[in-house]
Amino acid sequence: MHFLIFILGLLFGSFLNVCIFRIPRHQEIVYTPSHCMACGQSIKWYDLIPVFSYLILRGRCRSCKEPVSIQYPLVELANGLAYVWIYFVLGFTPAGLMTAILFSTCLVISLIDLQWMIIPNGILVFLLIVGVLFQVFFEKAFIESSIGFFAVSIPLLFIHVVTGGQMGMGDIKLMAVTGWILGWQKIVLALFLGSILGSVIGVSLIAFKVMSRKQRIPFGPFLSGGIILAALYGERMIQWYLDVIQVAL
Ligand SMILES: [Zn+2]
Repeated sequence: MHFLIFILGLLFGSFLNVCIFRIPRHQEIVYTPSHCMACGQSIKWYDLIPVFSYLILRGRCRSCKEPVSIQYPLVELANGLAYVWIYFVLGFTPAGLMTAILFSTCLVISLIDLQWMIIPNGILVFLLIVGVLFQVFFEKAFIESSIGFFAVSIPLLFIHVVTGGQMGMGDIKLMAVTGWILGWQKIVLALFLGSILGSVIGVSLIAFKVMSRKQRIPFGPFLSGGIILAALYGERMIQWYLDVIQVAL
């Protein structure tokens, strides 16, 4: 079972690569066959096997021998491993399925945000539709989702206005949509975890002089990290927090 889930994750990862490359370039993602970025040669099915084709071709195009970005096999591998991980934690449940979709979408969002400093609206609309479908099929409380939609997005919008756009609108929309999916407790937790991740990694990047203080660091990847952690471990973390408070009181 784990192996099948891993393979499924690799195959979806392959499609995520297409999304990461084409969506910010406003290209069609379903019908256009894969082709080499350097020579334009269309890629045969046997050269499109996730991870393996990259290793067999030693990271080069079969026809022009130009190097292929390592990002392709890494995205596939990350998605494959993440699906297995999610299956371990949440099992084959609606929450597990939703978290897998969340992970793949957040992976695409993070890489696009890192390279382009944007979070495309189309991806957020897709996520919102999936969230509404889950709501309908699994009869989640509508009020819980609605509060989740505004719980973090409204405070962030306030920060956006006060700071004159320091907080990106894409980040705010991401937290609204994922708040709808996760509910208000987990989305507040996601923001908290994302901010910690952002501060720790941001400060280290500046400390090790990888980035300068003035460079803008996209927040999307950190928020995504917080969202996935909250989706996976939110229930346990919130329960733990409530226990601690109870003891303290
Ligand atoms: Zn080529």
